[in-house]
Amino acid sequence: MHGGRDNTTTEYARAAASLRTAAGSAPSMSGSGTRALEAWFLGPKAENADLFEKLIADAIRDQAHWRRNFHPDDPTHITEEIKRSPAYLEAIGSLKDNHQSLLSFLKKSVPFFSMRYQGHMNWELTLPAMLGYFSAMLYNPNNVAFEGSTATTILELLVGDDICRMLGYEISGPDAPRPWGHITCDGTVANIEAVWAARNVKLYPLAVQEALRTDSSLAGAAGIEVATSGGTRRLVDLDPWDVLNLRADDVLALPGRLQQEFGIPGEVVGKAIAKFSVQTLGLVEFHRRFLRDLPSPVLFVPGTKHYSFPKAAALLGIGAENLRDVPVDLEARLDVNELRKMLETCLQEKRAVYTAVCVIGSTEESAVDPVDKVLKLRDDMRFKGLDFVVHADSAWGGYHASVDRDDFDMPARPGFVPPPPAMTLGKYVTRQFRQLGKVDSITVDPHKSGYIPYPAGALCYRNSAMRDLVSFSAPVVFHGDAEPTVGIYGVEGSKPGAAVAAVYLSHKVIRPSKSGYGKIIGQALFSCRKLYARLLSMAKDSDPFVVVPLNTLPKINGKSSEEVRGLLREVDSKTGQEIEADRQLLAFMSEIGPDQNILAYAFNLKNADGTVNASLDLCNRFNKSLYERLSIDPGRDIYGYDLIVSTTDLDAEQYGNRFIDDYKNRLGVGASSGGRITVLRSVVMNPWLTDTPQGSFIDVLENEFRKVLTEAVGTIRGSYTRGF
Ligand SMILES: *Cc1c(COP(=O)(O)O)cnc(C)c1O
Repeated sequence: MHGGRDNTTTEYARAAASLRTAAGSAPSMSGSGTRALEAWFLGPKAENADLFEKLIADAIRDQAHWRRNFHPDDPTHITEEIKRSPAYLEAIGSLKDNHQSLLSFLKKSVPFFSMRYQGHMNWELTLPAMLGYFSAMLYNPNNVAFEGSTATTILELLVGDDICRMLGYEISGPDAPRPWGHITCDGTVANIEAVWAARNVKLYPLAVQEALRTDSSLAGAAGIEVATSGGTRRLVDLDPWDVLNLRADDVLALPGRLQQEFGIPGEVVGKAIAKFSVQTLGLVEFHRRFLRDLPSPVLFVPGTKHYSFPKAAALLGIGAENLRDVPVDLEARLDVNELRKMLETCLQEKRAVYTAVCVIGSTEESAVDPVDKVLKLRDDMRFKGLDFVVHADSAWGGYHASVDRDDFDMPARPGFVPPPPAMTLGKYVTRQFRQLGKVDSITVDPHKSGYIPYPAGALCYRNSAMRDLVSFSAPVVFHGDAEPTVGIYGVEGSKPGAAVAAVYLSHKVIRPSKSGYGKIIGQALFSCRKLYARLLSMAKDSDPFVVVPLNTLPKINGKSSEEVRGLLREVDSKTGQEIEADRQLLAFMSEIGPDQNILAYAFNLKNADGTVNASLDLCNRFNKSLYERLSIDPGRDIYGYDLIVSTTDLDAEQYGNRFIDDYKNRLGVGASSGGRITVLRSVVMNPWLTDTPQGSFIDVLENEFRKVLTEAVGTIRGSYTRGF
């Protein structure tokens, strides 16, 4: 099964087409979705457990029917007699005992579901996602090839389109490039694939040029022309620098044009180009032949980048040295002026740029990079002759698009206006999401803000032809019709169709738009901003500590900072209902805190005389000691944890001095040397934090913080007086 494709392609295509259109059984994403958060999760006290148990039992029963009805006359194997045998009974006994032991051991796991868990990117999973996963797992489909996943490959095509549309890639007419998305095991692999595709798109036209110059099978097409920043020219006449700066869409159109305009069969085109591709030659030989006089190409990432990018650079032979960190601004967003300077240098050095990455929700602080400005900058640079693709890493933040996405694929219901999400994205973030459809590729993780079980990442391309450059088959023009398999594209081999079924069922019940995921994430944003307001207001003058969230208070036109502080106190003290009734306060609230729902914050302690400690080192030690009290130690009883957060270090080498110096100043340690700040970090995915029947849980969280703060201050001051 693995990788076998060529001779059976059309057979699979036909099968896929008929499965897709089979009357009555064809799945599709259209439908009205549903609206009740309380029906979408198991619940903090497993309130929906009975329902879930029944649904899981349905899946098992249905699997049994399926087995019995497939050639009912075929023999059985596990007879009643066997079931009475000692060996059988022993095995079942062992299964039960060991299962019990496993169940009890699993209680050492992290209580992600709890309101006291304010750490990493984990909360509950959606019920439809778990159910979809479990039900499909019983069939064990492998989405590496259609013949192992006759149902779930179809679902992958559907959810691929659905995710594209959530993110802003419109599936439009036959003339525009058609977007395409697929499910990967995670965001790391999706980012690696995106860099792989970007590298190959950059280098591909050099291979085409060489094939045109040297391969007689392409002789008829020697006159093929392409658009350059200096006008339309023959591809064979361009120097390497110009070839490296063709537009991606034009590059991706080349194999199709050779077929359509010059009548050269697809296989011939594919073979002639493959001889010179970087996939075939390897980077070393490729550079030796075509790029000898040019410096190594680079890719740009913001300082907040995820670790998957250094991995991609290493794996793809690009080299960590050529992965360039762009410093971030005071909000930890990519600083576009710094990027501009770096790109200008590339232009002067004739250094090609594989891609520039915007992170849409950075891992540590959920900062959203300025996609709008980066795209505008790309236009400027393109005009000057430096072109590159733009990739958005929205592994964390992609699902936040649903907060701003109008419902789609839903039957019209006259007069129905979906209720607005509890909380909207800030104006700046909204603007970035509205530009997202213009970037070339997007990573998004259903297993993060999609509340879907691992392993489910995704990569979407604006122009589906880009995926051909990471497959080892001849490019085929994709029009969105039935396909043999989607598993040939990308890094992985075998992959669980169950993960795809999880995404499918979750998206079907909870649409990735305002009335579905938009509601969950809107409420999570509400929780996050409430917690932010509390952090900002919790330290009183009499307290032996200060709290400094990474995100500064917003500057609001026409309001003094005292007025802004007043509004913040209102956000902190009012209930969810009171805030929702106050449109102005709600609008203010959507502008405060982090871009999305990850809070980074640091505490600093006060000296015995009430002044704020001025040593960065001591401040870092203080936060580390808080983290140690609020994080999971191997071996400690999980039931003993009252609050769990995570931590990270922010480093000047990646973030740039401007950001680090500003944060140090705000912490009161500006005069202290050192470029690394330890912060605590809470990913707030829980939509129910602020409105429980017993009031806001934020009060409980504050009390837990106070407990450990008092302890930690005592310990540090004590160790000082002991001459520590
Ligand atoms: C989590 C994350 C990744 C990697 O995703 P995995 O699914 O953990 O491999 C990449 N980029 C960002 C911004 C992330 O937050």
